[in-house]
Amino acid sequence: MKNSILDLSSEKLTEYLAAAGEPAFRSKQIFESIYAQNKTSFDDFSTLPKKIRSRLDQDFSLRTLKKIDEIVSPVDNTRKFLWQLGDGYKIESVVIYEKPRITFCISSQVGCALDCKFCATGKMGILRNLTPGEIVEQVLQMQDLIDAKVTNVVFMGMGEPMLNYESVIRAAEILSHPRGFGLGARRITISTSGIIPGIKRFTEEKQPFSLAISLNSTEDEIREKIMPISRKYPIEELLEAARIYSENMRRIITFEYVLIDKINSSIANAKQLVQLTHRIPCKINVIPCNSTDPEYSPPSRETVREFENYVNNRSRRITLRKRKGWEIQAACGQLYAENEKKKRKNKNITEQDNLIR
Ligand code: SF4
Repeated sequence: MKNSILDLSSEKLTEYLAAAGEPAFRSKQIFESIYAQNKTSFDDFSTLPKKIRSRLDQDFSLRTLKKIDEIVSPVDNTRKFLWQLGDGYKIESVVIYEKPRITFCISSQVGCALDCKFCATGKMGILRNLTPGEIVEQVLQMQDLIDAKVTNVVFMGMGEPMLNYESVIRAAEILSHPRGFGLGARRITISTSGIIPGIKRFTEEKQPFSLAISLNSTEDEIREKIMPISRKYPIEELLEAARIYSENMRRIITFEYVLIDKINSSIANAKQLVQLTHRIPCKINVIPCNSTDPEYSPPSRETVREFENYVNNRSRRITLRKRKGWEIQAACGQLYAENEKKKRKNKNITEQDNLIR
């Protein structure tokens, strides 16, 4: 299989061209053709001589993701895509419309090792990391398909971004490169379930991208139950890493808090959330749970409202994120799971047909 040209940073592309005896300015032309003009074939890189186009075609692939399913919400137009990778694995990405924003929620791994109990991807286990090119291509293809400019990218799809750190950062760099895709670094959010070494590295490297932490509980016992990774990274240490990030980077951090009925949505929980986060410059996104598992259902509207009001009256930094795409199961891993179910069903029908014949 050929390497994807989308894996290459501008510098690596310049090195490749130098080795091929081509001048550095060709790198700028290639980057523009790929990211500014979103060309899907090397043949269409019209600013390049034919010889270089053929050479690129011989050495690289330009598209490796094949769209195999798509669902559009009739309620809010949320669009969810299922892609097949070059080796047959599948990943998901979502387009969320929240005027004036168009946000792409993208995957960083095939599956996930962390097994958060409210998440369908966690049930898959980890299959492999995505390459930078596979991450970037989700953005390029979705932008083409919706025919509108993305305003924000969040790494909140399948996988834990901090466990595929190098590829995620490389992809974010390509997406924010002024000659590349040109998205502002602050508009790209890396969201982690709380991998402390990743947060520390992100801080030490002074990464310009935004950071979000999926907190989901303020009590270790409950957090360990719904997010087993917390056994390794307790809340106090996690919040300290978040505080240091905010202080050193002079940036506001986002805490994501998935509200689950009877698990983390009481007023006592809201009170703890305010107490634990009050010294950290942050905003808090509260998202009613979007799980298909009845054990992890969203609280009533009234409970959500009370939780939100409690936090807002004391800190005024909470945002209630609506359950976008609820009716199309837009939470991560659900379209994949549905597709696998359909595949198994079709296989059973074929096997039964064969037996009858
Ligand atoms: S919520 Fe994120 S970190 Fe947790 S299992 Fe799902 S994909 Fe992995």
